[in-house]
Amino acid sequence: MALLLIGLGLLAIALHQTWIRIPPNWQPWGPIALDEPPTWLARYQINGLAADPQACFAALDHAALDWRQLAERPIENGCGLEVGARITRSHVPWSGPFDTTCAMTAAIYWWEAEVQDLARLHMGSELARIDHLGSYACRNINSADSGRRSQHATANAVDIASFRFANGREVSVLADWGEDSQAGRFLAAAHDAACDFFNTVLGPDYNSLHANHFHLDLGRARICR
Ligand SMILES: [Zn+2]
Repeated sequence: MALLLIGLGLLAIALHQTWIRIPPNWQPWGPIALDEPPTWLARYQINGLAADPQACFAALDHAALDWRQLAERPIENGCGLEVGARITRSHVPWSGPFDTTCAMTAAIYWWEAEVQDLARLHMGSELARIDHLGSYACRNINSADSGRRSQHATANAVDIASFRFANGREVSVLADWGEDSQAGRFLAAAHDAACDFFNTVLGPDYNSLHANHFHLDLGRARICR
């Protein structure tokens, strides 16, 4: 027991003195490095950014993306965008600009890089564009007349419809989900990768409302389907 305590003490000193260097994103308390490979801590780190706007904007500043901070849109009647960011250039072109919370922006940027790797692996081509269906929408879950506000109401969500590749191919959630094909395997991998960064990931297997897109959000619910 005493030896164990001495060992732990020495380890703590070594870490404190930086005799041992922990690679980026391996320490739960350190800053997030969005241009370094994610670890199993990624979603935990992203949720940390959601709770700390200054750390979130700093993480975007240190990453190789162009973005801008958005004016505060105070939440009224459950709708608004409080710590907002817009990507203007990142790993992959998007079908159009969209505004999300800063933490969503960080998660999207990290996920994009993974999807680019998956494109090369499964499709043998570079990802050329991601088509989205929007982020901010002042509405309830499933656009119901009553019930809780959707994560879209605070721009804490984005919907992804399809992917275009440098070789001209297009893969859509509607046409290719569940197929035993290159495209189907790419989509399954992109969906699973999203679960490493976002709290809630809903696709066609969740319900028919998601037949044509992946819904990605940073709400409290942990769902990966
Ligand atoms: Zn959605």
